[in-house]
Amino acid sequence: MTIQKSESLFQRAQQSIPGGVNSPVRAFKSVGGTPLFISKAKGAYLYDADGNRYIDYIASWGPMILGHAYEPVIKAIQEQAVYSTSYGAPTELEIRMAELIKSMVPNVDLIRMVSSGTEACMSAIRVARGYTGRNKIIKFEGCYHGHADSFLVKAGSGVATFNIQTVPGVTAGVAADTLTCAYNDLAAVEKLVNENKQQIAAIIIEPVAGNMGCILPESGYLAGLRKICDAEGILFIFDEVMTGFRLAKGGAQERLGIDADLVTYGKVIGAGMPVGAFGGKKHIMEVVSPLGNVYQAGTLSGNPIAMIAGYTLLTVLNEQPQLLQEIEEKTIYLKDGLDTILAATGIPYVINQLGSMISIHFSDRPVTDFATAAAANNQLFNKFFHAMLKRGVYLPPSAFESWFLNNALTQEDLDVTLQATKESLEEVL
Ligand code: PMP
Repeated sequence: MTIQKSESLFQRAQQSIPGGVNSPVRAFKSVGGTPLFISKAKGAYLYDADGNRYIDYIASWGPMILGHAYEPVIKAIQEQAVYSTSYGAPTELEIRMAELIKSMVPNVDLIRMVSSGTEACMSAIRVARGYTGRNKIIKFEGCYHGHADSFLVKAGSGVATFNIQTVPGVTAGVAADTLTCAYNDLAAVEKLVNENKQQIAAIIIEPVAGNMGCILPESGYLAGLRKICDAEGILFIFDEVMTGFRLAKGGAQERLGIDADLVTYGKVIGAGMPVGAFGGKKHIMEVVSPLGNVYQAGTLSGNPIAMIAGYTLLTVLNEQPQLLQEIEEKTIYLKDGLDTILAATGIPYVINQLGSMISIHFSDRPVTDFATAAAANNQLFNKFFHAMLKRGVYLPPSAFESWFLNNALTQEDLDVTLQATKESLEEVL
C-alpha cells in the first residue's frame, strides 16, 4: 500500500494550514506517521488520495450512523441545494427539525440550532448560568465538550492525546469557574458541591464518555448526580454530541433512563453537516434570546442544507429504530471477536462497549475514568493503530477516542477487522 499522495498533500498542507490540519487529532501527532488525506467515502469505507480503501471505525466521529454518502441524505441535500445555501431568515424546515427531535427526545420542549457541538455546549452553560444566576460549572476529567474556553480544563480528546495541561489563551479567571473531578466518582462531586454551595450553575457530562476511549457510567452514578443536582438547584447537562440518536432514538437519556435538564447535540443531527443544538424544558430554555436576555445567535444556525441532511437521517432512525439495534449487534459481534483474540495473546486489555460505541485499552485494571485510561499502555495502542491501518482498518488515531460503528458494515467487514486484529497483535507484541 502506497500513501505517496497523502504524504505530498501533508507536506503541502503544512505550508498553509497550522500543522496541516483543521482539527488537531487528524494530524496523527500522537500515533506518528502521515495522516491520510481522504478523497471520498461510501458506506463503511473511506478512500484516501492514493485510492486505498479502509474500513472506517470513526464515522466522522459519530454522525455516519447509517454509513457514508447515505443515499436518502445525499438526495435530500442535492434537492435542497438548488434553492440556495442560506437565507438568514427562518424556514419551515427548522420547525420540522425541532418537532422531530422533540418527538424523539420527550423531555425537550424547546431547542435551538447552532453550527457545532462546541457552540451547543458553550451555549448550554451560558443558559445554565443565566437561569441559575451562578457562575461555576463542574465538568469531568477526560470529558470533552468542544473547544470553548470553559471546557479546556482537564479535557479529553486531543487535549488529552497531546497531554496539554494548561491551554494558553484560556484565562485563569475563566478556568477558575470550571471545577473538575474524576468520572464515576460521586463522592468527589458531593465534596465539590459542598465546598461551593449556591455557586454551581451546572454539571455537564458525557453520559457515556467517548473522548478518553469509551467509558461507561457505573451503575447509580448518573442517578446520583441527578439527585445532587435536584437537591442543590444545579442544572444537569447531558452532552449527547456523540451519544444522541446513536445509543437509542432518545439518546443516552432514554438508554440509561436518566432525565437531564439541558441536552446538547452536534454532528449527528447534521448527518455530517456542521450542526449542533441545545434544548431542554421550557421554563429553562425561555431565558434564551429573544424570549429572554441570555444572548445566543448564529448567521448559519438552522442552515437549510444542514437541516435537511439531519432531518433525513433522524427520520430514518425514528421510523426504523431496529437499525440502531442492528449496529449494536454488529458491535457486540466485534467485541466478542476482539475478546477472544486478545485473550489468546495473554496481554492485559479492557474492552468497554455500549450500543455502537466501543474501545480497547491495553490495561490490567478496569478503565473507568481518565486516570485509568491514561495509565494504560497507550504506546502499544499507537502501534496497534498503525498495524491495523496498514491492513485497511481505520481506527481513531488515539486511545483517547471511542470507535463508532455504522450500519453499512457487513459481516465480512467485521471478520476482516478481526483477522486484521489477530495479525496486528502478532506484529506489535
Ligand atoms: N461534545 C462532545 C461529547 C464531543 O465529542 C465533541 C466533539 N468531538 C464536542 C462536544 C464538540 O463538537 P464540535 O467538534 O462539533 O465542536
